[in-house]
Order: sequence, then C-alpha cells, then structure tokens
Amino acid sequence: MAEMTTGTEVAGRRLGGAGGRRPGPTLLCVAGIHGNEPAGVHAVRRVVAALKDRNDEIHGQFVALAGNLEALRHGRRFVDRDLNRAWTSERIVQLRSGVADDGTAEDREQKELLQAISDVLAAADGPVYALDLHTTSGPGGVFSAFTDSLPHRDFAAAFPVPMIFGLEELVDGTLLNLLSEHGIVAVTLESGQHDEPAAVDRAEAALWIAVVSAGLLPEHAVPEVVQARKRLEIDVEHLPRALEMRQKRDVHDGDGFVMVPGYANFDPVEAGEVVARDAKGDVVVEEDGRLLMPLYQEQGEDGFFLVREFSPFWMRASVAMRQLGLSRVVTWLPGVSRRGDNPDEVVVDKRIARFFARQLFHLLGFRQLEDAGDRLVMRRRRFDEGRYLRRPPRPAPIEPDLDAGS
Ligand SMILES: [Zn+2]
Repeated sequence: MAEMTTGTEVAGRRLGGAGGRRPGPTLLCVAGIHGNEPAGVHAVRRVVAALKDRNDEIHGQFVALAGNLEALRHGRRFVDRDLNRAWTSERIVQLRSGVADDGTAEDREQKELLQAISDVLAAADGPVYALDLHTTSGPGGVFSAFTDSLPHRDFAAAFPVPMIFGLEELVDGTLLNLLSEHGIVAVTLESGQHDEPAAVDRAEAALWIAVVSAGLLPEHAVPEVVQARKRLEIDVEHLPRALEMRQKRDVHDGDGFVMVPGYANFDPVEAGEVVARDAKGDVVVEEDGRLLMPLYQEQGEDGFFLVREFSPFWMRASVAMRQLGLSRVVTWLPGVSRRGDNPDEVVVDKRIARFFARQLFHLLGFRQLEDAGDRLVMRRRRFDEGRYLRRPPRPAPIEPDLDAGS
C-alpha cells in the first residue's frame, strides 16, 4: 500500500490547550509524532474548540503538542529517522549537549518537542497524565499500550479498548517509555487506520475520556464522555480486554520484508503460519495468537507483532500481588538473586526458575532487560506501588542523568 502524500499543516508545536486558571492535574497530549498519523491532530482541534466555554471550570490544564511537524507536512512517518525510537536517556544527553546534532529533520523536531514537554512539566503543579495518539497502517488497530506500573495501568483501563501489555519491553526509545520513567502517567492510544475518518472520532473519544479520568473536569461537566466510551467500545467488543506481547519481527533496510496482504490487527494466526516474506524466504509466527500492527507502509522498523490473550483474573491477581509488596521479596524464590546492589533488579537463573520466571515477573511489574543463555535480567518498574494508585506520582524533570543508577 502506497503511503499518502497529502500532508497536514500545523501552525506550531503547540496545537492548543484549555484551562490553567485553577490548580490541578495536567493532561498532555502528543499527536502526530509519526507524520502519516494526523488523526490525533484533528481530534485535538475538535476537543480544544469544544472546551473553550469550559475554561473556568477546568482544574489544572490540558496542553496538546504536535509531534513531528516536518513529517506531518509531508504526510510521511518520518523524514530522516523515526522520532518515536530515539527517546533514550543516552540520546537525550547527546541532544542536550549538542553532540547528536547531525542536522536531520528529526534532531530539530526532537529538541523542540523535548523543550516543549519540559516547559509543560515545569509549569505543572500536580500529577501529569499523557496521551500519545497514534494510528496503524493496517485496519482494526484500536488498542492501548503502556508501561505496566499500577497507576499507568489504572489510567489505561479507563479506555474501553484492548490493553496491550509488554509492548514497551520490545520497543526501545519510545516517548511513552521516557515519560513513564519520569513519573508521567502515560498511555499510547492507537485509534485505527491512518486515514479513516473513524480514527479521528476514536482519538477524540479517547481525549474526552482522558479529560475526565485525569480529573480536569467531573464527569457531569463532560456530557461527551458517555458517547465517547460507546464510540471506542463498538469496534472492539469482540476482542479480548487484555493481551500480552509474544513476538516482534524487526525490519531492517535491505532484508526485503513484505507482509502477506490482507491481514488486519487482531486477526487470529497459528504457529507456523506464513504471514510475510523476506529475502531468505517465508516469515512465520512462532505460536498461536493474534497478529498486531502488520506493516503495510514503506517506512517502519517493526514488521508485525504477535499478541496473546490473557485472563482478566491475572490482571486482578497481579494488582493484589503488587499491593501486598510481593515484588519486593522475589529474591526469596529459588534461582532468583539481586543484581548488584540495585534492589529493583534481579537475575533469574532460568535452569531453576524456568517454570515461573518471565510470566511471574511480569505479573509482579518487572520488565525484561536482558535474556541471554540461562540468565534473565528483570527490573521492577518505577512507581509500581499501591500508594501511587491513591496519589499519582509527581513528574520529575527530564534530566540526562535521572535514569542512571537510580
Ligand atoms: Zn505511530
């Protein structure tokens, strides 16, 4: 499928906002970090216009930023490099010190966007929630993705769409990951196929839900939210509520990856099914599950993902386990030891702990750092304690050295 060449003009980084006259939480929306995904930009415009009359009632404020202005203008995913794969702490250090400035369009975009986000964080005087709006190249891509800490999961649960666990573990350098690490309660919402009108409607619905669940306005002041929930539910009613990532297929320049045509998001697939071809031949899925984000555009580093349903029982069980503080005592388990003196990192000996290792640690809120040989290194996610459910974290400034050793 050819990429759309019609672009979307935005006047500046700041798409709009509302509120700011009463203290309260901040809701930050980032739209169009991929330039061929303008649905979020249009949705923001609708919501900003509709909130105009309610400015005085809003507690805290709503701010919306455009992600990749240059790419939006061209209607392409990116100009020189993917802007949503470069939000690692190393890269931020380089950008701030000027080392990484190789003159690419995305260097400029990233610096500006980082500054704009830093300004929003500096002005915040309460918790900060973030909604990162995206769309997919294939049809049926309506879901949420997030870092699986308790407050983030809680915010994600407000959107009645399939919740994808573990995407953040497989895709490095996303803005979502960076924001989450710094105490911003962030969710990525995929609202459908790039250019379908319904993708704008769903992104708008997600924004209304976010306005209410972040606490900017009480539900009775947002009559739109009832319809918004219905709008999101209607296309995903037949799908599971919770799915976990099982496989990701990377795409590299020159490996000739081409998706078999006709797949939609969440299509069931069987182990061994040929879903794509590359220079070496058939590309198959490793186990039974459902296909997610099949690549039907020229640009992009992810060929497809495989996800698998898991029971809502385990969602509830994992909340209970974390609230009981079990994630702090995992080193009592056989084959599990602390890594160095970081209390949040563990090394799991897969020969001993193979029956429970990865899935148990996922339930306990750990993410995988490394999987090599018999060794599995996992790290407990930040802000994953019951107290953050009662009182969301306060954002930390995005400083270069924040992640190091903490
Ligand atoms: Zn995207």
